Amino acid sequence: SKDYPVIIVVVGASGDLAHKKTLPALFSLYYHDMLPHQFAVVGYARSKLDREKFHDVVRSHLVCRITDRDTCERKTAAFLDRCFYFSGQYHDREDWRKFHEWLTEEIEWPMIHKQQQRLIGANGDGGGGGGDVQTERVPGRLFYLAIPPSVFADTLGGISSEAMAPESRGAWTRVIVEKPFGRDTESYEALRDVVSSCFTEDAVYRIDHYVGKPLVANLTTLRLGNFVFDVLWNRHCVESVQVVFKEDFGAEGRAGYFDSYGIVRDIMQNHLLQMMSIVAMDPPASPMAADINEAKVKLLRDMRPLRAKDFVIGQYDRYRAEQGVPPGSTTPTFAACVVQIDNERWRGVPFVMSAGKALDEKKVYVKVTFRETPNHSFVPEELQDRRNSIYIEIQPRPAVELSFISKVPGLTGRVVPTKLDLVYNESFVEEARDMPDAYERLILDAIVGDRTLFISDEQISRAWSIFDPALKEMESAPPMQPALYAYGSPGPILPETLIKKFLAGKMSSS
Ligand code: NAP
Repeated sequence: SKDYPVIIVVVGASGDLAHKKTLPALFSLYYHDMLPHQFAVVGYARSKLDREKFHDVVRSHLVCRITDRDTCERKTAAFLDRCFYFSGQYHDREDWRKFHEWLTEEIEWPMIHKQQQRLIGANGDGGGGGGDVQTERVPGRLFYLAIPPSVFADTLGGISSEAMAPESRGAWTRVIVEKPFGRDTESYEALRDVVSSCFTEDAVYRIDHYVGKPLVANLTTLRLGNFVFDVLWNRHCVESVQVVFKEDFGAEGRAGYFDSYGIVRDIMQNHLLQMMSIVAMDPPASPMAADINEAKVKLLRDMRPLRAKDFVIGQYDRYRAEQGVPPGSTTPTFAACVVQIDNERWRGVPFVMSAGKALDEKKVYVKVTFRETPNHSFVPEELQDRRNSIYIEIQPRPAVELSFISKVPGLTGRVVPTKLDLVYNESFVEEARDMPDAYERLILDAIVGDRTLFISDEQISRAWSIFDPALKEMESAPPMQPALYAYGSPGPILPETLIKKFLAGKMSSS
């Protein structure tokens, strides 16, 4: 409820994620009047900034999507008025204790005091109601961890031991954490132990920002809310599924970080697997978070663990020349694999995941291809290879397209491939001009305590057990050699080619 006050603490507020995503998303929520009436944004980091300098940095990253200049300036100033900064170390409990004291006195108390004033005003000065402050609310604390994983443990320890909101007075504390969630089962379990020693699972909000993108959030409605798609969503009707991520730039600027993860960990094990889970899960018992989680976990259990032989990996030709990449690195910047799902709904249907950097275009999409029509008499010879498909473009141009063949009007009887499409920019003109960023959706959900779009511990554990065997095989000596591909090319293999190989029984896993 908007009546529940909140303090959002951005830990690592001096960093890239905070500047580019977290703080602009908070501003946009404020701008659209979606935040609680009483809120404060507090930056925490080691950098020695005063409030004014912090405001300068925040201001330089805020964007008003649609508005005139005056409104934008007015709203920016009002937002900055609620932004504060505290400089502290992540490992120092004493700093966290001081932070808690400062937060309580300088921010929490004034918020509570304001509520008391309002309640007294509402109940009449001097009257018996003046003392009725029973309904005042102590602000919840939402800690957004925008820091490297190396300081997670110290930070979570500091927050949980020194800086929790007073639970005894009805206030909650939540933490938002973001990938990387380890680099394999072992490191994830170590991280999980740290997190669970500090917070209960229901206080931890793990973000996969792809899940917050409008088209991904719509996948469940699209397939389960529409009879025509719902009845077709199984191995009897679907021939293959693709989940594809293509980036038209390389690892420039973050190659050192990227080289220790690679595209499989950076994109596939989290973003693509999440999208695939939403496409392939059995219908959840309800749209509630617990039921969606159960359906996704079941699906992940039904997925066959991947082996190196299920993959084609590649590396763009200039990658080894990037700053921070060791000579001879075999880290893949491209990977494609076939995932198999051992359940009644999907047995035998190839699900292809493909992700690559430095490719010919920037695009993320899901494509569900249906089986061949049994009746060929209405399909001209040259179109008999074509299949109906649903193509869902997540970015950059959110759209849903249903492809089919159709007769051209006129006397020739010509039949051509065609499509019905829903292009967001054209069909939802107003909304598309002001489309919220995925982070806005997710931060708002964390504030109101809606866990539907967040990733559970069990999902991440399952995800690692699917990818671990392949990663171990690829990385153990001698490591699997990626195929070199030219920067700006389509990459070493197309998803369609991989599907054809699988369906022709030419992949060793089939
Ligand atoms: P960052 O800019 O490198 O770090 C954020 C802040 O953490 C820095 O401003 C710095 O603040 C502090 N910091 C950096 N290195 C540190 C170290 N070695 N020890 C202690 N403190 C350190 O990172 P980021 O890009 O914002 O990303 C933060 C987290 O989000 C990472 O886990 C990253 O993998 C994840 N992530 C980032 C993005 C993105 O778009 N950037 C996207 C998805 C996930 P002070 O020195 O002021 O304390």
